[in-house]
Amino acid sequence: MTKQDLIEIPKPLDQLTATEIERKSCIGKVMTYTLKSLTNTYVNKGFQWLLPVALSQSTDPLWPDPGASIEKRIEVDIYGKPVRTTASMIIHKLIAASTAYPKLFILSPNIRIEKAERAKTGRHLYEFTQLDFEAQGACSKDIFILVEEAIVTLIKDLKREMKSELTTLCRCDTLKVPKTPFKIYDRVELEAKYGKDWEAVITSEITDPVWVTNIPREFYDFEDFRTGKWDNYDLFLPQFGEVLSGAKREYEYTKILTKIERDQVKKENYSLILKMAKESRLKPTAGAGIGMERLVGWIAGVKHIAECQPFPRVPGNVNEL
Ligand code: ATP
Ligand code: ASP
Ligand code: MG
Repeated sequence: MTKQDLIEIPKPLDQLTATEIERKSCIGKVMTYTLKSLTNTYVNKGFQWLLPVALSQSTDPLWPDPGASIEKRIEVDIYGKPVRTTASMIIHKLIAASTAYPKLFILSPNIRIEKAERAKTGRHLYEFTQLDFEAQGACSKDIFILVEEAIVTLIKDLKREMKSELTTLCRCDTLKVPKTPFKIYDRVELEAKYGKDWEAVITSEITDPVWVTNIPREFYDFEDFRTGKWDNYDLFLPQFGEVLSGAKREYEYTKILTKIERDQVKKENYSLILKMAKESRLKPTAGAGIGMERLVGWIAGVKHIAECQPFPRVPGNVNEL
């Protein structure tokens, strides 16, 4: 029997027993506390809180990404123009952070129709929320410091103020305040040591969150063409895995164009960002997105992150609500 066979698909609200409702309610309170704590941290540090959008001509290509598994992309015509549902607000962030909102964050619903075979990874949903943020002039180190502070503050305060919920969830003793600074690993070294399965190996071996840098992926993450190194990062949580992805960003026209062409991504879907870059109006920024259901899932010790959703979005499982 594999680990995935033991994972149950979280049920919709109307099918929960009284005990399950109590657990759901505790996880809901942890989610509320987490949202309050993180949004406070960002607002207090001068980040502006933007509202999300659901339909745009341009969204995250989610390609090339070593872990991508998208079954279907949703595209509809409105007012005679094709629009896509938001996969992530990365393109919006880059334009917004380069113009009116130099430091911003958004609680952004992301729709990614993951393959139904991902139903029992416990880590994938077809609709989820990122706390997506971006800062003009920031570098990777700035983002590491910001995220580490946000997570440590959250866990410290949670352990003090949410004792009864953490006890119900059996996380009171096992949830530890992480030590900072988090360790930083280079993906090349992890691959050399552990092979292709490096993500699974570090996830099971670490006891504190760790950063992994230098991961080849979408055109908007910064790549040094001379060394081939990527200035990007993922945050991994112990026994849980990836909770955040981010990067310093590309802002130079020729590099963005070269990478879009190299990735064979449709240029016409990215004409605004290309135009802004060409006119030198795209600024150097860095940022990241935290998967809220994954972060709260780790805190609450869930088997499936859909437990953190009032209305579960499990790949392959569509409920009435
Ligand atoms: P993975 O490789 O784990 O499937 P990803 O690298 O494809 O994830 P990103 O594009 O980096 O995901 O998305 C940013 C963050 O959003 C992730 O770090 C994760 O926390 C969250 N996330 C991504 N895909 C999902 C999903 N299908 N369900 C829930 N959360 C997700
Ligand atoms: N939010 C991620 C970032 O800021 C992008 C993604 O969702 O794929 O890099
Ligand atoms: Mg990622």
